[in-house]
Amino acid sequence: MSAVPIASFAQRLLTWFDQHGRHDLPWQHPRSAYRVWISEVMLQQTQVKTVIPYFEKFVARFPDVTTLAKAALDDVLLLWAGLGYYARARNLHRAAQQMLAQHGGELPQDFEALLQLPGIGRSTAGAILAQAHGARHAILDGNVKRVLARYAAVGEWPGHPRASLQLWEISESLLPPQRLADYTQAIMDLGASVCTRRVPACLRCPVSADCQAHIAQRVAEYPAPKPRRDRPLRLASALLIENAAGEILLERRPPAGIWGGLWCPPLLEENADAATMLRERYGLQLAALQTLPTLRHAFTHFELQLQPLRIQLVGIIHSVRDASSQRWVKLSDAPPALPTPIARLFQQLKMSTDQPCPEPFTA
Ligand code: SF4
Repeated sequence: MSAVPIASFAQRLLTWFDQHGRHDLPWQHPRSAYRVWISEVMLQQTQVKTVIPYFEKFVARFPDVTTLAKAALDDVLLLWAGLGYYARARNLHRAAQQMLAQHGGELPQDFEALLQLPGIGRSTAGAILAQAHGARHAILDGNVKRVLARYAAVGEWPGHPRASLQLWEISESLLPPQRLADYTQAIMDLGASVCTRRVPACLRCPVSADCQAHIAQRVAEYPAPKPRRDRPLRLASALLIENAAGEILLERRPPAGIWGGLWCPPLLEENADAATMLRERYGLQLAALQTLPTLRHAFTHFELQLQPLRIQLVGIIHSVRDASSQRWVKLSDAPPALPTPIARLFQQLKMSTDQPCPEPFTA
């Protein structure tokens, strides 16, 4: 990297931000630590325009740490439905409970104390302290990684520990002495609106004069892509067990693993038999079975192919064993927090409720 005066990068960025940056995001008014925290966690995997309505609903329902900590996890997950990566919502809830128990219901102002909380990593802690308190902390979210990988021509994939270390050093070295809240927003805005992933607008960029990738005309090569590894495919069935009242059985997923804490129809591993599972696990007898079109859902480490099986039972089922982990829901009722593909499946089922189940299937 060439010797660029530190203030130069920050100063140009701040001047650009004053004119072109985003000054009316809902978490900027007011810019409290709580609101910055919620927005930062929502923005970890999601774009600003998607986050805004979720943020507004979330802080209206849970305006502070105490309200969030005392809320039922189901209510938190319900407001998160559609944003994906539900571990973020579970971590927000757990972190709020820790803040209530250990920090008087406030976000700690100490960097190390923030890092102890679930779901708060180095970049999120830095963003909270810089934006809410003007403290001198660097950030390195996805947008900033891309800007700095290009600006300093870091050739390795930013997820590699060596590249990550280098990018953190660069990010810290470029911090200005003042206006940390604005600077943090400015570098995120630059990544979101100018140094974009596909078509960076270098001609409009305030730091193009010493951007190493731009000077070398090799912008398209940065950041280096993640080394390719094919995601394995997992197969499973979703059992849409329907009782005589037309209700579907849902179970709460265990906290760890896919869709942790959300409500979901029972899942059946590949090659397992639905009739046997119904009999052995629930004491239920299958009357009819209908195969619905399969669904695909991509997780970070694998792809799931889900075969929905619509199942009718023999006799009337009156109760479930444990209301906190199982429940019958009517398709016409507002469902609890469901994983996105299951919510879509419920929508399709709702539209087809007029269609009868097929003739009894012999198990
Ligand atoms: Fe990104 Fe181009 Fe600006 Fe470099 S000059 S930081 S590549 S927009």
